[in-house]
Amino acid sequence: MPQLKAACVIGWPVGHSRSPLIHNYWIKQHGLDARYRREEIAPAAFADFIRNLSSRGYVGANITIPHKEAALELSEPDDCARAVGAANTLWLDGLRLRSTNTDVEGFTANLDDAVPGWAGRAGEAVVLGAGGSARAVIYGLIGRGVGRINVVNRSIERAEALRRRFGAAVHPAEWAALPSLLARCDLLVNTTSLGMTGQPPLAVDLAPLPLGAAVTDLVYAPLKTSLLAAAEARRHAVADGLGMLLHQAVRGFELWFGVRPRVTAELRTLLETDLGK
Ligand code: NDP
Repeated sequence: MPQLKAACVIGWPVGHSRSPLIHNYWIKQHGLDARYRREEIAPAAFADFIRNLSSRGYVGANITIPHKEAALELSEPDDCARAVGAANTLWLDGLRLRSTNTDVEGFTANLDDAVPGWAGRAGEAVVLGAGGSARAVIYGLIGRGVGRINVVNRSIERAEALRRRFGAAVHPAEWAALPSLLARCDLLVNTTSLGMTGQPPLAVDLAPLPLGAAVTDLVYAPLKTSLLAAAEARRHAVADGLGMLLHQAVRGFELWFGVRPRVTAELRTLLETDLGK
């Protein structure tokens, strides 16, 4: 009899993670004899936990806060995880514990889905924020040929560190430069936590943005952020953070269970309902 396959999401805390909802939906949809669970693991216990994934019955795992950098150190990362400097997906390849960062694919696949042809039109992008998710976004944008990426961040030194990491396509900038940067922007990306439920609002005046520009927000709670609402009111093409969350899950499922799942309207509705609770 084939052995039941299991994967999990490891975090500290981990109760907020929507990954079980996504992966268990796909497990059911594909009729697999598999499980996906939450594992709340403290930083001190993390290394031992992932070194013994197999004996705990797991073929792989998603990694969330605060373990993404440790996961990179403790595994064999692919080029993507190494470039981003964080791993969010682990899988066992024989005895090897390998890792990748699926936020990159999640970001670009979501844009491909919601704004077809975006990359061909995006000569210049503005990325708000220079934290962990900005690294995945910038790597994704460079991979899709975006030539100039203006990174606007409150702490300019973090944006400067991204130029050192990713090279001359990255142009660090202060918030004060935003209106002039928006005026020549083809794609605006919010990677800050501003606008998220419980966080301060993101105050950006979209007036200078050319009407052909696309707008995307990584924040998915609320689902429609004030940035996306303002962009829609001006008829910009938009992509929301929930789409990225769903698309980033695809690769992990494929690596663990051998089936490439699809992001369906039904799955999206399931998550929307859960986020609305
Ligand atoms: P980080 O903590 O690594 O970075 C936060 C960023 O927000 C930094 O650039 C920080 O600026 C900026 N910021 C925070 N507060 C303020 C403020 N008051 N004023 C100005 N700037 C501020 O977070 P992540 O990059 O990991 O995540 C950011 C958001 O993206 C979160 O809401 C997260 O949920 C979402 N996300 C969504 C994903 C998806 O799949 N949709 C995937 C990953 C993240 P500074 O450097 O100056 O502190």
